[in-house]
Amino acid sequence: MRAQKVVVITGGGRGIGAAAAKLFAKEGYAVCINYKSNSETANTLAQGIIAEGGRCITVQADVSNEADVIRMFSTVDKELGAISVLVNNAGILKQQSRLEEMTADRINEILFNNVTSYFICSREAVKRMSSRHGGNGGVIVNVSSGAARTGSPNEYIDYAASKGAIDTLTKGLSLEVAAEGIRVNCVRPGLIHTDMHADGGEPERIERLKSKIPLQRGGEPEEVAEAIYWLASEKSSFSTGNYLDLSGGL
Ligand code: NAP
Repeated sequence: MRAQKVVVITGGGRGIGAAAAKLFAKEGYAVCINYKSNSETANTLAQGIIAEGGRCITVQADVSNEADVIRMFSTVDKELGAISVLVNNAGILKQQSRLEEMTADRINEILFNNVTSYFICSREAVKRMSSRHGGNGGVIVNVSSGAARTGSPNEYIDYAASKGAIDTLTKGLSLEVAAEGIRVNCVRPGLIHTDMHADGGEPERIERLKSKIPLQRGGEPEEVAEAIYWLASEKSSFSTGNYLDLSGGL
């Protein structure tokens, strides 16, 4: 019998991560839903997956904190087994502002949460997946953003730059581990209906901008989850170091 595949989804309790957790569970994966503080949404989601016959755990961990990340991956080793897929998804956004108003503390918080976290989670995944370390291979899917291309002027160039770093991480790491059985790709969503826009201070941001989107609407988390799942699956077996834009043509 083939071992059940295991996926770790950072920030999997809400938004895009939650849609991905549901989809991977439906496709037969054992799922680790990571969250930082919102235990109720993560646990409710996990209970729903388990009630439908799925295998799922939740792990509280601040993925910008190295000790938390190490603890999360060893919990997964013990409770679910060898990781097959890592979805680096957890991310934050701060109040819209121009660079002149940004403090170093704010910029560092964005970089720790959106960049350092992806690096250290990827490191733990590679240590387990790479044939160099006796692993059976695997896939990493990074959730970047269309902001990496636009730069988000007058809104949050700190966030946009953090996502630019994720595009570069995707490219560099994909080449570093390609011969070791690991594929690394990223999705670049734009204007998806989640709580994140409220964190930027404009919950109705998509309403304001949707006429500029060629498809004339914002995206749904489930539409991003489908792309993440495709990149994690064997159907994309010849893709690595690639960026998949999901922004309604914007
Ligand atoms: P969301 O609804 O605000 O969810 C963010 C998730 O990240 C939450 O589950 C949160 O955990 C988790 N998180 C944040 N910091 C964390 C940390 N340090 N450790 C662990 N978990 C942490 O946002 P979303 O829109 O689904 O965003 C998911 C990803 O998509 C992000 O990387 C974001 O940049 C990217 N993205 C979103 C859009 C969009 O339009 N929504 C567009 C492009 C890219 P808690 O629930 O515990 O707070």
